[in-house]
Amino acid sequence: MTESPSTSNSTRSRRRGVVYLVGAGPGDPGLLTLRGLECLQQADLVLYDGLANPQLLEHTRATTERTSRIGGPGSRHLDQSEINQRLIAAALEGKTVVRLKGGDPFIFGRGSEEAVALAEAGIPFEVVPGITAATGAAVYSGISLTHRDHASAVALITGHEDPTKPESALPYDQLGRFPGTLVFYMGLHRIEQIAHSLIEGGRPPTESAAVVCQATTPRQQVVTGTLSTIAKVAQAARLKPPSLLIVGDCVRLREQASWVERRPLHGLRIGITRPAGQAEESLRQARQLGAESILMPTIAIAPITDWTAVDAIIRQLSTYDWAVFTSVNGVDGFLERLEALGLDGRAFGSCQLAAIGTTTAERLSRWHLRADLIPEEFRAEALAAALQPQVAGKRVLWVKASRGRDVLPQHLRAAGAYLTELPVYQNIDTPEFTPQVQELLLSGELDWICISSPSGAQSLARLIPTEARSRLGHSIRIAAISPITAEAATEAGLPVTVVASEATWDGLFDAIAAFRENSHH
Ligand code: SAH
Repeated sequence: MTESPSTSNSTRSRRRGVVYLVGAGPGDPGLLTLRGLECLQQADLVLYDGLANPQLLEHTRATTERTSRIGGPGSRHLDQSEINQRLIAAALEGKTVVRLKGGDPFIFGRGSEEAVALAEAGIPFEVVPGITAATGAAVYSGISLTHRDHASAVALITGHEDPTKPESALPYDQLGRFPGTLVFYMGLHRIEQIAHSLIEGGRPPTESAAVVCQATTPRQQVVTGTLSTIAKVAQAARLKPPSLLIVGDCVRLREQASWVERRPLHGLRIGITRPAGQAEESLRQARQLGAESILMPTIAIAPITDWTAVDAIIRQLSTYDWAVFTSVNGVDGFLERLEALGLDGRAFGSCQLAAIGTTTAERLSRWHLRADLIPEEFRAEALAAALQPQVAGKRVLWVKASRGRDVLPQHLRAAGAYLTELPVYQNIDTPEFTPQVQELLLSGELDWICISSPSGAQSLARLIPTEARSRLGHSIRIAAISPITAEAATEAGLPVTVVASEATWDGLFDAIAAFRENSHH
């Protein structure tokens, strides 16, 4: 018997919703669990709290909504019962819902209240643990919460309550006798009272203490002192929430075990001027080296609108002797079209392939094509010089953007090549930076801007707000990927502080790290 349409409809409407309470970890988006990632990928709706890093939403195609018990910019104030109701209602509609919560859902996060509400409403749910702020902050500041010689126990304590109130749940006299490390989840304004109460409760005023702020993010700040000094030290450092207080001897071991601060780009905020959708790798690289990477595209890449010329050339591709690729976009634009025409790599026949650098060559290899020629130096002049001896009388195809430098065609034609220039994508100028990027530029809170092409340099010069210009070269420095890019920047009136010695993004980040290393000494 075949299934009637009405049966399958009712099957669909009976699809059961589910809620995943997922721990987002303390800040670093890399600290989400694999299970948490799976849940985000399956979600229809994600409700995330104020502490969960919004970057994690890149992993989901769901509708996302920020909930905040405090409210504030971009978030809607929802009290806990409203959040519970939203979760239940969405699950009853058959949705897969992720409730994404900073740290671990069951540590001071009211996740258990959400779980109870779901259970009472008969909604299936699963809870995915997360790295709680205490362990995240401790590890990222080189503090081991337990230690064979210094601490055999840890207490996680909420310090939000006012210790001077009689109803305060915290027995400071008992904490005074606790044989191990104390970690307080608390607001910055509470440090003084907590430290004071601990001393009164019997802990030595000379005991070590640390405050860790914005733990595991590129903005992490750590200050250390003793119970009697920590409040003053923290105040002087003008820390920003969220923050934790760690009390115990193990804080002293930080000197030896710290590692975050040793990463080459630690604490720097670096602007990456690549087009959206092509910047992921560079953004990730910079993050890995300890920087906070900011996407600030100066151009957008768009497909061309008329493919007639490209199609005609693809159909007679094997009549060419050389195909020259000078960008990743050129590779993808050309080969995607080739594939769309129902062809594959065999269309090249015996045509040889040249790539301007290793990045472009790597992209070719993703299409199972090997570059026959890559110049020693990754620039048009070097590419032209390497090709010159081989192209006299030959048919050469240059796959390119709708605009670009004319060094290559001049040299190749001079060498006797029959050159066809074939635009396969277009560069569209960004009309202006996003408000967030503008704000960083105006406040000088950006440390570096990386530029990777002469046209990118020109666009940057056009996009920098006039008021931010005086900061360039001082609080905001510019790093150029190559001498040519640096030259274009200088011509456009932008001061360049460092130039990469190898024309890659790795090379750029190395140059920034070397500059910082030198200015420290
Ligand atoms: N469920 C969360 C805690 C929620 S309570 C967890 O497991 O981490 C909120 C408190 O956590 C903040 O007031 C602050 O004390 C602490 N906190 C959360 N994220 C933090 C971070 N990145 N750095 C320092 N403290 C943090």
